[in-house]
Amino acid sequence: MKIVRLVLGDQLNSSHSWFQEKDDNILYCLFEMRQETDYITHHIQKVAGFFAAMRNFADGLIKDGHRVKYLNILAPENTHALTKNLTQQIEQFNADKFEYLLPDEYRLDKQLKDFCGTLTIENAVTDTEHFYTKREDLGVFFEGKKQFLMENFYRNMRKKHQILTVNAQPEGGQWNYDKNNRKKWKENTLVPPFKSFDNNVVIICEEIQKAGIKTIGKINPKYFEYPISREQALEQLEYFCEHLLVHFGDYQDAMHTNQIYLYHARISFAMNIKLISPKEVIAKTLATYRDPKATIEISQVEGFIRQILGWREYMRGMYWALMPNYKTLNALNNTNKLPDFYWTGNTKMNCLKNAINNSLDNSYAHHIQRLMITGNYALLTQTNPDEVDAWYLGIYADAVEWVQLPNTRGMSQFADGGKIATKPYISSGSYVHKMGNYCDSCHYNKKEKTTKDACPFNSLYWNFLDDKKEELSGNFRMGMMYSLLRKIPAEKLFEIKEKAAHIIANPNEY
Ligand SMILES: Cc1cc2nc3c(=O)[nH]c(=O)nc-3n(C[C@H](O)[C@H](O)[C@H](O)COP(=O)(O)OP(=O)(O)OC[C@H]3O[C@@H](n4cnc5c(N)ncnc54)[C@H](O)[C@@H]3O)c2cc1C
Ligand code: SF4
Repeated sequence: MKIVRLVLGDQLNSSHSWFQEKDDNILYCLFEMRQETDYITHHIQKVAGFFAAMRNFADGLIKDGHRVKYLNILAPENTHALTKNLTQQIEQFNADKFEYLLPDEYRLDKQLKDFCGTLTIENAVTDTEHFYTKREDLGVFFEGKKQFLMENFYRNMRKKHQILTVNAQPEGGQWNYDKNNRKKWKENTLVPPFKSFDNNVVIICEEIQKAGIKTIGKINPKYFEYPISREQALEQLEYFCEHLLVHFGDYQDAMHTNQIYLYHARISFAMNIKLISPKEVIAKTLATYRDPKATIEISQVEGFIRQILGWREYMRGMYWALMPNYKTLNALNNTNKLPDFYWTGNTKMNCLKNAINNSLDNSYAHHIQRLMITGNYALLTQTNPDEVDAWYLGIYADAVEWVQLPNTRGMSQFADGGKIATKPYISSGSYVHKMGNYCDSCHYNKKEKTTKDACPFNSLYWNFLDDKKEELSGNFRMGMMYSLLRKIPAEKLFEIKEKAAHIIANPNEY
């Protein structure tokens, strides 16, 4: 039987059972397509990174003796539409069967299901063998429950997979060391140099340009830093475990003008395109922790494992439980436009300038920059979640919809009305000051609310609470904030709201 098998750009799992046997009757297809480069404006590092990793992966398959059809972005026979390319390959190969790996995105899942419905040959779909959970597991776990708390899911995962547990109880006595993960980083704590690669993607970038693909952000094509092969991904993981894990938890939420990555792993791109699996990442982390020579506290290790075993699997499960409706939710009825400076970094607000420039320069920002700087500002300015999603989906190398959407629309923008986050992640300037040094060199004064140089986050914060009273004042976790709001004298609140209205109407002045 002759089989055409599709491998999507984020399915580069060389350990998959598909590749363990060689068979000349199987043709593996990988396509660089305008369908994928153009559905949103992506960062140049994201497009180049995907293409570079796909090309490496295809070369590896060929070297291992597999039969591969790779359509480059400039290939004359490339139709740039997934189903047309597949039809072409099925016909040319005279295939009797079409097989594909379960896509992680709803859009592609639907497209491939519909495509199979039109086929007259046999077809089948196979798991990507990447995640701990199956798509539907989380929906089943929370069935009949009113709240879908990540913590409950995470504890269950720890027990089920016996990770940091002793007799089904948490090793070290606590399930969660989140409270230990909130240190402010000070310049006298040395951070090891960041592990980066000097991948040459000059030709890929020239081809992207020649094809006329619109992108955002910067790249140094001679020294592309992200891992683009399994070997590099493993090296990155090794480096993280050896040098960074020791303080990962401590400075997980910290922000600093001199530090882009601090102790973060920057492993999400490699994991999301499946160069390495979450199981491998967790196994290596645990082995490092258990090494008798290592002196790593459980809070660092638990903090890291929680992100992968907990948050990453949870977000994927929520995505599949709630799509396609999830993508349309706007519980707070926010309709404003995202300010232009999200695409330029051209703002006097130092925290936003740093987080946005980091994103434009490196296609990266760590979690707290995404959540408490860019996300916080977008929410406080009551931005339409469609606009916020489009920015997050485009700008980060690791942005694939199954993980970007629940993080952005749910956790960051509260547009799902509290399915993922139990309260909106908002703050005034004081939180930004507490977790970093951005405020120290900012044009604005973190303590002021309404003066000319007052930190914009301060008026926006109280204005947001006031505007969203109807939707949020009943939330028991917001009780303290609303009681503080009620203590603000009417004239002062009026002033605050005037200031906030000016910021929202004139974002590019700030
Ligand atoms: C608004 C917003 C949008 C986001 N969009 C994405 C996205 O498109 N793609 C993406 O992979 N992550 C996204 N995240 C989660 C998180 O910010 C990134 O995974 C992380 O910054 C990647 O960098 P790192 O590898 O250095 O992570 P580390 O801080 O070193 O964490 C280790 C790993 O844990 C996982 N992880 C941590 N937090 C989360 C989370 N909330 N959800 C899922 N996985 C998590 C990631 O795989 C990450 O690589 C988003 C978060 C927010 C608040
Ligand atoms: S003062 Fe306000 S705008 Fe400036 S860095 Fe601090 S939080 Fe950001």
